[in-house]
Amino acid sequence: MNYCTTCKNGVMEKGTTTVTFDKDNMVIVFRHVPAQVCNVCGDYTIEGDVAKALLQAAKEERAKGHELTVVNYQKAA
Ligand SMILES: [Zn+2]
Repeated sequence: MNYCTTCKNGVMEKGTTTVTFDKDNMVIVFRHVPAQVCNVCGDYTIEGDVAKALLQAAKEERAKGHELTVVNYQKAA
């Protein structure tokens, strides 16, 4: 069992979350990102491979120069 380090009560379960990058007046929102999500407080942990892919995708989106981008992660990946 993988307990939540934030609230100490919840259990981390497989789910999806929304990750937002907000930098240099550019906001990129990734939806449906696979993560371990706490069933009590909603805090989440993203695994290394997913985090890496997210950073790479964010870089590519930033290069397009749009002020606000919303990406469905599962479709993009
Ligand atoms: Zn929690």
